[in-house]
Amino acid sequence: MAKAYDIVIGGGAVMGSSIAYHLAAQPGFSGRILVVDRDMTYRGAASSLSLSSIRQQFSCPINIRVGLAGVAFLKQAREILAVDGEAPQVGFVEKGYLYLATEAGAPVLRDNHVVQTAEGADIALLAPDALKRRFPFLHVDDLALGAWGRTGEGWFDGYSLMQAFRGKARSLGVAYRQAEIAAFEQSGGRVAAVVLADGERIACGAFVNAAGASGAARLARRAGVEIPVHSRKRCVFVFDAKARLERCPLVIDASGVYVRAEGESYVCGVSPPEAQDPDCDDFEVEWAEFDEIIWPALAHRIPAFESLKVSRAWAGHYDLNIFDHNAIVGRLPGADNAYIAAGFSGHGIQQSPAVGRGLAELIVTGRYATLDLNDFAFERIAAGRPLLERNVI
Ligand SMILES: Cc1cc2nc3c(=O)[nH]c(=O)nc-3n(C[C@H](O)[C@H](O)[C@H](O)COP(=O)(O)OP(=O)(O)OC[C@H]3O[C@@H](n4cnc5c(N)ncnc54)[C@H](O)[C@@H]3O)c2cc1C
Repeated sequence: MAKAYDIVIGGGAVMGSSIAYHLAAQPGFSGRILVVDRDMTYRGAASSLSLSSIRQQFSCPINIRVGLAGVAFLKQAREILAVDGEAPQVGFVEKGYLYLATEAGAPVLRDNHVVQTAEGADIALLAPDALKRRFPFLHVDDLALGAWGRTGEGWFDGYSLMQAFRGKARSLGVAYRQAEIAAFEQSGGRVAAVVLADGERIACGAFVNAAGASGAARLARRAGVEIPVHSRKRCVFVFDAKARLERCPLVIDASGVYVRAEGESYVCGVSPPEAQDPDCDDFEVEWAEFDEIIWPALAHRIPAFESLKVSRAWAGHYDLNIFDHNAIVGRLPGADNAYIAAGFSGHGIQQSPAVGRGLAELIVTGRYATLDLNDFAFERIAAGRPLLERNVI
Protein backbone atom coordinates (compact mmCIF):
# COMPACT_ATOMS: atom_id res chain seq x y z
CA MET A 1 0.00 0.00 0.00
CA ALA A 2 1.40 3.41 -1.01
CA LYS A 3 2.12 5.99 1.69
CA ALA A 4 1.11 9.01 -0.37
CA TYR A 5 -2.05 9.80 -2.36
CA ASP A 6 -3.32 12.82 -4.21
CA ILE A 7 -6.69 12.49 -2.50
CA VAL A 8 -7.64 10.61 0.67
CA ILE A 9 -11.34 10.18 1.44
CA GLY A 10 -12.36 9.40 5.04
CA GLY A 11 -15.48 7.22 4.95
CA GLY A 12 -16.22 4.87 2.07
CA ALA A 13 -19.97 4.30 2.25
CA VAL A 14 -22.34 5.83 -0.31
CA MET A 15 -20.99 9.38 -0.16
CA GLY A 16 -17.29 8.55 0.04
CA SER A 17 -17.64 6.00 -2.75
CA SER A 18 -19.67 8.35 -4.97
CA ILE A 19 -17.00 11.03 -4.53
CA ALA A 20 -14.27 8.46 -5.26
CA TYR A 21 -16.01 7.23 -8.42
CA HIS A 22 -16.71 10.74 -9.70
CA LEU A 23 -13.10 11.79 -9.03
CA ALA A 24 -11.72 8.78 -10.85
CA ALA A 25 -14.08 9.49 -13.77
CA GLN A 26 -13.20 13.21 -14.01
CA PRO A 27 -11.84 13.91 -17.48
CA GLY A 28 -8.13 14.67 -17.39
CA PHE A 29 -7.67 13.68 -13.73
CA SER A 30 -5.20 10.91 -13.10
CA GLY A 31 -4.42 11.46 -9.41
CA ARG A 32 -4.13 8.56 -6.98
CA ILE A 33 -7.18 8.17 -4.72
CA LEU A 34 -7.45 6.27 -1.43
CA VAL A 35 -10.69 5.61 0.47
CA VAL A 36 -10.23 4.79 4.15
CA ASP A 37 -13.12 3.25 6.05
CA ARG A 38 -12.89 1.78 9.52
CA ASP A 39 -15.54 -0.88 8.86
CA MET A 40 -15.91 -2.21 5.37
CA THR A 41 -18.81 -4.42 6.35
CA TYR A 42 -20.72 -1.07 6.54
CA ARG A 43 -22.84 -2.75 9.23
CA GLY A 44 -23.58 0.44 11.18
CA ALA A 45 -23.33 2.89 8.27
CA ALA A 46 -26.48 4.84 7.49
CA SER A 47 -25.97 3.80 3.89
CA SER A 48 -26.74 0.18 4.85
CA LEU A 49 -29.65 0.98 7.16
CA SER A 50 -31.33 3.58 4.98
CA LEU A 51 -34.80 3.51 3.45
CA SER A 52 -33.26 4.91 0.27
CA SER A 53 -36.15 6.98 -0.96
CA ILE A 54 -35.78 9.92 -3.33
CA ARG A 55 -37.93 13.01 -3.74
CA GLN A 56 -38.13 16.51 -5.12
CA GLN A 57 -40.61 17.61 -2.48
CA PHE A 58 -38.31 19.99 -0.66
CA SER A 59 -38.66 23.70 0.04
CA CYS A 60 -35.05 24.67 -0.89
CA PRO A 61 -34.38 24.91 -4.64
CA ILE A 62 -30.94 23.34 -4.23
CA ASN A 63 -32.46 20.18 -2.71
CA ILE A 64 -34.96 19.95 -5.57
CA ARG A 65 -32.19 20.29 -8.18
CA VAL A 66 -30.09 17.69 -6.39
CA GLY A 67 -33.14 15.38 -6.25
CA LEU A 68 -33.78 15.76 -9.98
CA ALA A 69 -30.11 15.04 -10.72
CA GLY A 70 -30.31 11.99 -8.45
CA VAL A 71 -33.28 10.55 -10.33
CA ALA A 72 -31.60 11.15 -13.69
CA PHE A 73 -28.53 9.30 -12.39
CA LEU A 74 -30.54 6.37 -10.99
CA LYS A 75 -32.24 5.90 -14.35
CA GLN A 76 -28.85 5.52 -16.01
CA ALA A 77 -26.98 3.83 -13.16
CA ARG A 78 -26.93 0.46 -14.89
CA GLU A 79 -24.95 1.85 -17.82
CA ILE A 80 -22.81 4.33 -15.88
CA LEU A 81 -21.76 1.99 -13.07
CA ALA A 82 -21.43 -1.28 -15.00
CA VAL A 83 -18.10 -3.04 -14.57
CA ASP A 84 -16.89 -5.55 -17.17
CA GLY A 85 -20.41 -5.79 -18.60
CA GLU A 86 -21.95 -6.47 -15.15
CA ALA A 87 -24.72 -3.91 -14.60
CA PRO A 88 -25.78 -3.12 -11.02
CA GLN A 89 -29.45 -3.39 -10.06
CA VAL A 90 -30.50 -0.31 -8.14
CA GLY A 91 -34.19 -1.12 -8.55
CA PHE A 92 -35.81 2.32 -8.76
CA VAL A 93 -39.55 2.12 -7.90
CA GLU A 94 -41.13 5.31 -9.25
CA LYS A 95 -44.30 5.51 -7.13
CA GLY A 96 -43.87 9.00 -5.70
CA TYR A 97 -44.07 10.61 -2.28
CA LEU A 98 -47.46 11.74 -0.99
CA TYR A 99 -47.32 14.49 1.63
CA LEU A 100 -50.62 14.94 3.48
CA ALA A 101 -51.65 18.12 5.28
CA THR A 102 -54.50 19.36 7.45
CA GLU A 103 -55.62 23.02 7.17
CA ALA A 104 -52.64 23.98 9.34
CA GLY A 105 -50.05 22.43 7.01
CA ALA A 106 -51.68 23.16 3.64
CA PRO A 107 -50.10 26.62 3.10
CA VAL A 108 -46.62 25.08 3.41
CA LEU A 109 -47.45 22.44 0.76
CA ARG A 110 -48.79 25.19 -1.53
CA ASP A 111 -45.70 27.40 -1.04
CA ASN A 112 -43.37 24.46 -1.63
CA HIS A 113 -45.32 23.47 -4.73
CA VAL A 114 -44.64 26.84 -6.35
CA VAL A 115 -40.88 26.39 -5.81
CA GLN A 116 -40.93 22.72 -6.89
CA THR A 117 -42.84 23.45 -10.09
CA ALA A 118 -40.53 26.35 -10.96
CA GLU A 119 -37.59 23.92 -10.64
CA GLY A 120 -39.21 21.42 -13.01
CA ALA A 121 -40.45 18.84 -10.48
CA ASP A 122 -43.63 16.96 -11.43
CA ILE A 123 -45.70 17.38 -8.26
CA ALA A 124 -49.51 17.47 -8.21
CA LEU A 125 -51.59 19.14 -5.50
CA LEU A 126 -54.69 17.06 -4.71
CA ALA A 127 -57.76 18.19 -2.78
CA PRO A 128 -59.38 15.60 -0.45
CA ASP A 129 -61.87 14.32 -3.05
CA ALA A 130 -59.09 13.87 -5.63
CA LEU A 131 -56.95 12.15 -2.98
CA LYS A 132 -59.78 9.73 -2.23
CA ARG A 133 -60.32 8.94 -5.91
CA ARG A 134 -56.64 8.26 -6.58
CA PHE A 135 -55.81 6.57 -3.25
CA PRO A 136 -59.09 5.04 -2.02
CA PHE A 137 -57.41 3.42 0.99
CA LEU A 138 -56.85 6.84 2.63
CA HIS A 139 -59.04 8.37 5.32
CA VAL A 140 -59.28 11.99 4.11
CA ASP A 141 -61.98 13.62 6.28
CA ASP A 142 -59.50 15.65 8.35
CA LEU A 143 -57.19 16.49 5.42
CA ALA A 144 -57.05 19.72 3.44
CA LEU A 145 -54.44 18.85 0.80
CA GLY A 146 -51.98 16.29 -0.53
CA ALA A 147 -48.86 16.79 -2.67
CA TRP A 148 -47.97 13.80 -4.82
CA GLY A 149 -44.90 13.24 -6.98
CA ARG A 150 -46.36 11.98 -10.26
CA THR A 151 -42.93 11.09 -11.63
CA GLY A 152 -39.33 11.30 -10.49
CA GLU A 153 -39.89 10.19 -6.89
CA GLY A 154 -39.86 6.83 -5.17
CA TRP A 155 -37.36 4.45 -3.65
CA PHE A 156 -34.46 2.24 -4.67
CA ASP A 157 -31.84 -0.18 -3.37
CA GLY A 158 -29.39 2.15 -1.63
CA TYR A 159 -27.06 -0.63 -0.52
CA SER A 160 -26.66 -1.74 -4.12
CA LEU A 161 -26.01 1.85 -5.19
CA MET A 162 -23.25 2.13 -2.57
CA GLN A 163 -21.68 -1.14 -3.71
CA ALA A 164 -21.98 -0.09 -7.35
CA PHE A 165 -20.17 3.22 -6.70
CA ARG A 166 -17.53 1.29 -4.79
CA GLY A 167 -17.10 -1.38 -7.45
CA LYS A 168 -16.88 1.17 -10.25
CA ALA A 169 -14.41 3.32 -8.30
CA ARG A 170 -12.18 0.29 -7.70
CA SER A 171 -12.37 -0.67 -11.36
CA LEU A 172 -11.05 2.81 -12.19
CA GLY A 173 -8.07 2.38 -9.87
CA VAL A 174 -9.30 3.77 -6.54
CA ALA A 175 -7.70 2.00 -3.55
CA TYR A 176 -9.78 1.05 -0.48
CA ARG A 177 -8.30 0.42 2.92
CA GLN A 178 -9.97 -0.69 6.16
CA ALA A 179 -8.58 1.54 8.92
CA GLU A 180 -9.68 4.32 11.25
CA ILE A 181 -8.46 7.85 10.65
CA ALA A 182 -7.48 9.11 14.09
CA ALA A 183 -5.71 12.42 13.44
CA PHE A 184 -4.30 14.82 10.87
CA GLU A 185 -0.90 16.29 10.33
CA GLN A 186 -1.29 19.91 9.26
CA SER A 187 1.33 22.24 7.92
CA GLY A 188 1.27 25.58 6.09
CA GLY A 189 -2.53 25.79 6.24
CA ARG A 190 -2.95 22.38 4.62
CA VAL A 191 -3.69 18.81 5.65
CA ALA A 192 -0.35 17.18 4.94
CA ALA A 193 -1.26 13.66 6.03
CA VAL A 194 -3.87 11.51 7.74
CA VAL A 195 -2.75 9.48 10.71
CA LEU A 196 -4.39 6.09 11.21
CA ALA A 197 -5.34 4.64 14.59
CA ASP A 198 -2.28 2.37 14.49
CA GLY A 199 -0.06 5.43 14.02
CA GLU A 200 0.62 4.95 10.32
CA ARG A 201 0.94 8.18 8.34
CA ILE A 202 -0.43 8.59 4.81
CA ALA A 203 0.48 11.81 3.00
CA CYS A 204 -2.28 13.44 0.97
CA GLY A 205 -2.66 16.25 -1.56
CA ALA A 206 -6.27 16.76 -0.43
CA PHE A 207 -8.56 15.27 2.20
CA VAL A 208 -12.32 14.69 1.99
CA ASN A 209 -14.38 14.09 5.12
CA ALA A 210 -17.28 11.77 4.24
CA ALA A 211 -17.43 9.98 7.57
CA GLY A 212 -21.19 10.22 8.16
CA ALA A 213 -23.11 10.30 11.43
CA SER A 214 -20.54 8.25 13.26
CA GLY A 215 -17.43 10.13 12.24
CA ALA A 216 -17.78 13.41 10.29
CA ALA A 217 -18.10 15.74 13.29
CA ARG A 218 -15.28 13.96 15.11
CA LEU A 219 -12.94 14.14 12.10
CA ALA A 220 -13.80 17.81 11.50
CA ARG A 221 -13.00 18.57 15.16
CA ARG A 222 -9.65 16.83 14.79
CA ALA A 223 -8.96 19.14 11.84
CA GLY A 224 -9.89 22.11 14.04
CA VAL A 225 -13.47 22.79 12.86
CA GLU A 226 -16.75 22.33 14.76
CA ILE A 227 -19.66 21.24 12.56
CA PRO A 228 -23.23 20.98 13.93
CA VAL A 229 -23.70 17.37 12.79
CA HIS A 230 -25.16 14.98 15.35
CA SER A 231 -25.90 11.28 15.28
CA ARG A 232 -29.64 10.77 15.84
CA LYS A 233 -31.49 7.46 16.03
CA ARG A 234 -34.16 6.62 13.46
CA CYS A 235 -36.12 3.35 13.74
CA VAL A 236 -37.74 1.50 10.86
CA PHE A 237 -40.54 -1.01 11.46
CA VAL A 238 -41.49 -3.67 8.93
CA PHE A 239 -45.02 -5.05 8.96
CA ASP A 240 -47.35 -7.28 6.99
CA ALA A 241 -51.00 -6.56 6.37
CA LYS A 242 -53.72 -8.56 4.67
CA ALA A 243 -54.73 -5.54 2.61
CA ARG A 244 -52.78 -4.87 -0.59
CA LEU A 245 -52.78 -1.17 -1.38
CA GLU A 246 -52.65 -0.62 -5.10
CA ARG A 247 -50.31 2.10 -6.38
CA CYS A 248 -49.36 3.08 -2.83
CA PRO A 249 -46.76 5.89 -2.81
CA LEU A 250 -44.52 6.77 0.14
CA VAL A 251 -47.17 8.38 2.31
CA ILE A 252 -46.11 11.06 4.78
CA ASP A 253 -49.03 11.64 7.07
CA ALA A 254 -49.83 15.04 8.57
CA SER A 255 -48.68 13.51 11.89
CA GLY A 256 -45.17 12.96 10.46
CA VAL A 257 -45.55 9.17 10.35
CA TYR A 258 -44.47 7.68 7.01
CA VAL A 259 -45.26 4.35 5.37
CA ARG A 260 -44.46 2.70 2.06
CA ALA A 261 -44.46 -0.73 0.52
CA GLU A 262 -41.28 -2.82 0.56
CA GLY A 263 -41.81 -5.88 -1.58
CA GLU A 264 -44.80 -7.74 -0.14
CA SER A 265 -44.47 -5.95 3.23
CA TYR A 266 -44.57 -2.33 4.41
CA VAL A 267 -42.00 -0.15 6.18
CA CYS A 268 -42.86 2.76 8.44
CA GLY A 269 -41.38 5.16 10.98
CA VAL A 270 -41.41 8.67 12.39
CA SER A 271 -38.84 11.27 13.42
CA PRO A 272 -39.15 12.13 17.10
CA PRO A 273 -39.66 15.77 18.13
CA GLU A 274 -36.35 17.66 18.55
CA ALA A 275 -36.67 17.71 22.36
CA GLN A 276 -36.89 13.90 22.45
CA ASP A 277 -34.13 13.26 19.96
CA PRO A 278 -30.86 12.91 21.89
CA ASP A 279 -27.44 12.19 20.35
CA CYS A 280 -26.94 8.46 20.25
CA ASP A 281 -24.64 5.72 19.06
CA ASP A 282 -26.63 2.61 20.01
CA PHE A 283 -28.80 0.53 17.71
CA GLU A 284 -31.59 -0.41 20.16
CA VAL A 285 -35.04 -0.26 18.53
CA GLU A 286 -37.45 2.11 20.31
CA TRP A 287 -40.48 -0.20 20.24
CA ALA A 288 -42.67 2.29 22.13
CA GLU A 289 -42.46 4.55 19.07
CA PHE A 290 -44.44 2.00 17.08
CA ASP A 291 -47.08 1.28 19.72
CA GLU A 292 -47.62 4.82 20.93
CA ILE A 293 -47.12 7.01 17.85
CA ILE A 294 -46.91 5.11 14.59
CA TRP A 295 -49.64 2.51 14.78
CA PRO A 296 -52.40 4.86 15.98
CA ALA A 297 -51.51 7.32 13.19
CA LEU A 298 -51.36 4.57 10.55
CA ALA A 299 -54.67 3.03 11.57
CA HIS A 300 -56.30 6.45 11.46
CA ARG A 301 -54.97 7.38 8.03
CA ILE A 302 -55.20 3.94 6.40
CA PRO A 303 -57.98 1.97 8.15
CA ALA A 304 -56.83 -1.23 6.40
CA PHE A 305 -53.78 -1.07 8.70
CA GLU A 306 -55.85 -1.44 11.88
CA SER A 307 -54.86 -5.06 11.57
CA LEU A 308 -51.18 -5.68 10.92
CA LYS A 309 -48.26 -7.73 12.16
CA VAL A 310 -44.81 -6.27 12.79
CA SER A 311 -42.20 -8.76 11.61
CA ARG A 312 -38.96 -6.92 12.40
CA ALA A 313 -37.40 -3.52 13.00
CA TRP A 314 -34.00 -1.86 12.96
CA ALA A 315 -32.38 1.38 14.09
CA GLY A 316 -29.89 3.49 12.17
CA HIS A 317 -28.35 6.93 12.59
CA TYR A 318 -29.25 10.12 10.75
CA ASP A 319 -26.33 12.53 10.32
CA LEU A 320 -28.49 15.45 11.45
CA ASN A 321 -27.28 18.98 10.84
CA ILE A 322 -29.06 20.64 13.75
CA PHE A 323 -28.26 24.12 12.37
CA ASP A 324 -30.64 23.92 9.39
CA HIS A 325 -31.27 20.25 8.40
CA ASN A 326 -29.25 20.59 5.22
CA ALA A 327 -26.03 19.11 3.90
CA ILE A 328 -22.62 20.68 4.42
CA VAL A 329 -20.66 20.27 1.20
CA GLY A 330 -17.54 21.95 -0.11
CA ARG A 331 -14.34 23.30 1.38
CA LEU A 332 -13.70 22.88 5.07
CA PRO A 333 -12.28 26.06 6.60
CA GLY A 334 -8.87 26.02 8.25
CA ALA A 335 -7.08 24.06 5.53
CA ASP A 336 -6.84 24.92 1.82
CA ASN A 337 -7.04 21.29 0.74
CA ALA A 338 -9.77 19.92 3.06
CA TYR A 339 -13.33 19.19 1.88
CA ILE A 340 -16.49 17.88 3.49
CA ALA A 341 -19.70 16.09 2.50
CA ALA A 342 -21.75 15.53 5.66
CA GLY A 343 -24.86 16.47 7.64
CA PHE A 344 -27.32 15.09 5.09
CA SER A 345 -30.09 14.94 7.69
CA GLY A 346 -31.91 12.00 6.14
CA HIS A 347 -31.30 12.81 2.45
CA GLY A 348 -27.81 11.46 1.93
CA ILE A 349 -28.46 8.42 -0.23
CA GLN A 350 -30.57 10.33 -2.74
CA GLN A 351 -28.07 13.20 -2.75
CA SER A 352 -25.01 11.01 -3.24
CA PRO A 353 -24.93 11.09 -7.06
CA ALA A 354 -25.13 14.89 -7.40
CA VAL A 355 -22.94 15.64 -4.37
CA GLY A 356 -20.26 13.14 -5.41
CA ARG A 357 -20.19 14.60 -8.90
CA GLY A 358 -20.10 18.21 -7.65
CA LEU A 359 -17.42 17.68 -5.06
CA ALA A 360 -15.23 15.87 -7.59
CA GLU A 361 -15.56 18.86 -9.93
CA LEU A 362 -14.72 21.29 -7.13
CA ILE A 363 -11.65 19.34 -6.08
CA VAL A 364 -10.27 18.83 -9.57
CA THR A 365 -11.19 22.13 -11.27
CA GLY A 366 -11.80 24.49 -8.34
CA ARG A 367 -15.46 25.07 -9.27
CA TYR A 368 -18.80 23.34 -9.68
CA ALA A 369 -19.55 22.67 -13.34
CA THR A 370 -22.79 20.69 -13.72
CA LEU A 371 -24.77 21.87 -10.67
CA ASP A 372 -23.83 24.72 -8.35
CA LEU A 373 -23.72 23.35 -4.79
CA ASN A 374 -22.51 26.56 -3.16
CA ASP A 375 -25.75 26.82 -1.13
CA PHE A 376 -24.44 23.86 0.90
CA ALA A 377 -21.14 25.59 1.75
CA PHE A 378 -19.95 25.64 5.37
CA GLU A 379 -19.76 29.47 5.26
CA ARG A 380 -23.52 29.76 5.92
CA ILE A 381 -22.96 28.16 9.31
CA ALA A 382 -20.03 30.40 10.19
CA ALA A 383 -22.15 33.40 9.12
CA GLY A 384 -25.22 32.22 11.09
CA ARG A 385 -27.30 32.16 7.86
CA PRO A 386 -29.39 28.95 7.93
CA LEU A 387 -30.62 27.38 4.69
CA LEU A 388 -33.81 26.19 6.33
CA GLU A 389 -35.54 23.17 4.82
CA ARG A 390 -39.25 23.08 5.68
CA ASN A 391 -39.93 19.58 4.37
CA VAL A 392 -38.06 17.56 6.97
CA ILE A 393 -38.76 13.90 7.77
C1 LIG B 1 -33.26 4.70 9.04
C2 LIG B 1 -32.72 5.62 7.98
C3 LIG B 1 -33.50 5.94 6.87
C4 LIG B 1 -33.00 6.78 5.89
N1 LIG B 1 -33.77 7.03 4.80
C5 LIG B 1 -33.26 7.79 3.79
C6 LIG B 1 -34.00 7.98 2.60
O1 LIG B 1 -35.13 7.50 2.47
N2 LIG B 1 -33.44 8.71 1.60
C7 LIG B 1 -32.19 9.27 1.73
O2 LIG B 1 -31.73 9.93 0.81
N3 LIG B 1 -31.47 9.11 2.85
C8 LIG B 1 -31.97 8.39 3.88
N4 LIG B 1 -31.25 8.21 5.01
C9 LIG B 1 -29.99 8.94 5.17
C10 LIG B 1 -28.88 8.31 4.36
O3 LIG B 1 -28.88 6.91 4.54
C11 LIG B 1 -27.53 8.93 4.80
O4 LIG B 1 -27.62 10.34 4.73
C12 LIG B 1 -26.40 8.45 3.91
O5 LIG B 1 -26.36 7.05 3.85
C13 LIG B 1 -25.08 8.99 4.43
O6 LIG B 1 -24.05 8.36 3.73
P1 LIG B 1 -22.55 8.63 4.16
O7 LIG B 1 -21.70 7.86 3.23
O8 LIG B 1 -22.33 10.11 4.24
O9 LIG B 1 -22.45 8.11 5.67
P2 LIG B 1 -22.48 6.61 6.26
O10 LIG B 1 -23.28 5.70 5.44
O11 LIG B 1 -22.84 6.74 7.71
O12 LIG B 1 -20.97 6.16 6.14
C14 LIG B 1 -19.93 6.78 6.86
C15 LIG B 1 -18.74 5.86 6.82
O13 LIG B 1 -17.63 6.52 7.46
C16 LIG B 1 -16.89 5.55 8.17
N5 LIG B 1 -16.10 6.26 9.21
C17 LIG B 1 -16.58 7.00 10.25
N6 LIG B 1 -15.56 7.51 10.95
C18 LIG B 1 -14.42 7.08 10.36
C19 LIG B 1 -13.03 7.27 10.64
N7 LIG B 1 -12.62 8.01 11.69
N8 LIG B 1 -12.13 6.67 9.84
C20 LIG B 1 -12.53 5.91 8.77
N9 LIG B 1 -13.83 5.71 8.47
C21 LIG B 1 -14.76 6.28 9.25
C22 LIG B 1 -17.94 4.61 8.72
O14 LIG B 1 -17.38 3.33 9.01
C23 LIG B 1 -18.96 4.55 7.58
O15 LIG B 1 -18.76 3.46 6.71
C24 LIG B 1 -31.71 7.36 6.03
C25 LIG B 1 -30.92 7.04 7.13
C26 LIG B 1 -31.41 6.18 8.10
C27 LIG B 1 -30.54 5.83 9.27
